Amino acid sequence: MKKAIFWFRRDLRLEDNCAFYHCLHDNDLVIPIFIFDQNILEKLPPKDKRVEFIWHCIQNLKAELNKVGSDLIVAYDRPSKVIELAKMHQVTAVYCNEDYEPDAIQRDQFVQQELRRDNIEFKSYKDTVIFAKREILNQQGEPYHVFTPYKNAWRAKLHSSNFQHYPTEDLLEKLVKVQNTELTSLESLGFEKTGIADKPIVRDHHAHKLFADFKADKAQQYKENREFPSISGTSFLSTHFRFGTISIRKVVREILELSDVAMGRFREGSDTWLNEIIWRDFYFQILFNDPHVVHSSFKPQYQNFPWLHDEILFKAWCEGRTGYPLVDAAMIQLNTLGYIHNRLRMLTASFLTKIMLIDYKMGEQYFAEKLLDFDLAANNGGWQWSASTGCDAQPYFRIFNPMTQSKKFDADGLFIKKYLPIFKDVPAKLLHEPWKYQKELQAYGITLGKDYPLPIVDYAEARRATLVCFDDFLKNTSKIQLD
Ligand SMILES: Cc1cc2nc3c(=O)[nH]c(=O)nc-3n(C[C@H](O)[C@H](O)[C@H](O)COP(=O)(O)OP(=O)(O)OC[C@H]3O[C@@H](n4cnc5c(N)ncnc54)[C@H](O)[C@@H]3O)c2cc1C
Repeated sequence: MKKAIFWFRRDLRLEDNCAFYHCLHDNDLVIPIFIFDQNILEKLPPKDKRVEFIWHCIQNLKAELNKVGSDLIVAYDRPSKVIELAKMHQVTAVYCNEDYEPDAIQRDQFVQQELRRDNIEFKSYKDTVIFAKREILNQQGEPYHVFTPYKNAWRAKLHSSNFQHYPTEDLLEKLVKVQNTELTSLESLGFEKTGIADKPIVRDHHAHKLFADFKADKAQQYKENREFPSISGTSFLSTHFRFGTISIRKVVREILELSDVAMGRFREGSDTWLNEIIWRDFYFQILFNDPHVVHSSFKPQYQNFPWLHDEILFKAWCEGRTGYPLVDAAMIQLNTLGYIHNRLRMLTASFLTKIMLIDYKMGEQYFAEKLLDFDLAANNGGWQWSASTGCDAQPYFRIFNPMTQSKKFDADGLFIKKYLPIFKDVPAKLLHEPWKYQKELQAYGITLGKDYPLPIVDYAEARRATLVCFDDFLKNTSKIQLD
């Protein structure tokens, strides 16, 4: 009898799961396991939305496995626990899906080596992305560093086998039959409830509902609506992609079907959305091929850029107290929901790096702590894009103007009013540059500097100083290189 372990990691679902399918297909008996990784959890604060989200996903997985008479073995341990379990259950192989983060790659290499000593195979499969590692290369046989040619090559190479369905349903009888065990409580793991337990996102199959809504409705206006933070115009699937609660192949398969049969706006919307999925793959391959981005800038010339580390400015940015309402509302959205709209990720990142001139790594780290959808590849890519230190980054002289962004993307002030309720009765016109309307704001009982901050930095001055700083730095760097 061939017996194997299936190790769930960032693929917390039974359906259309590549490695899970192969594990069930190749073996007679499969033992599903999940390890809450102590190495990671030990470093987290006791209130962590992500841990609670994972805990609920595990609860949902257990319930699904229980329905077919099986259960998930859940450990709170080091990843090496998988080796102990493999030996204990005398399996011939451990199956899992690939993880492309540098620490995870190291972890998997270690596990593989240790298992090999006992003649246990370690089999890993691509599941998180459509194209991984070095699958998309330029004509010189090198990974792309610019998105548009990468996207074109991605689309040209796409074949139905890249988004095939892995049907696991009929194979579930191969799962080991065991008595259900209760999942260790969040509190026993050392964590406190964060309030997401009653939110739809923790419900089983929530991702499928979001995706169905997206296809039926949002896709039609996606291209236009995705720019406006007060409109619920995007899919909100990022957290589900991060933890694999929906298959990326399923969404690509179905969005292409929609794109094929749909006309006009639906087609345009699906196509634009597919580009975002390609951005996701793009940053995964950057992280895999250029892992130095985790600790340093993608462009080496920025390695010694004189970023500031001003704790007072940084704290004001984190807490949404810069005096620029759209920036502050966005940071409050992050702090309360663990999510920020994409345009506002770009705006707040630009504000921190180009107006406050603060090290992008500080902002990247703050997002990493707060985002429910935190993904090293996309977060690092987004931050380095904003700071102009990354691959295919925006040029250093492109600086988001918070007033113009506010007038254009939150013209009616609906987003600002939602997260800064002090402004709820104030006409939108006064919200984009409130310091210009101090007298008018008094009529609504708001004194700037007391009830809401005055701008913590002057935009025009700060912008000028940033441009000088980048110009001087790049001149000096190129001089040093020429010397
Ligand atoms: C500074 C900064 C930090 C970011 N940090 C993260 C992060 O930690 N995790 C994360 O998933 N995304 C991150 N993004 C990308 C993007 O903001 C989010 O993926 C998006 O807002 C999630 O909302 P959605 O699922 O409704 O997106 P939709 O608009 O519905 O897009 C669909 C999917 O495409 C992917 N996607 C969209 N935009 C991008 C992008 N620019 N880069 C990579 N993938 C993208 C996501 O998986 C997303 O779920 C960051 C962007 C910036 C500028």
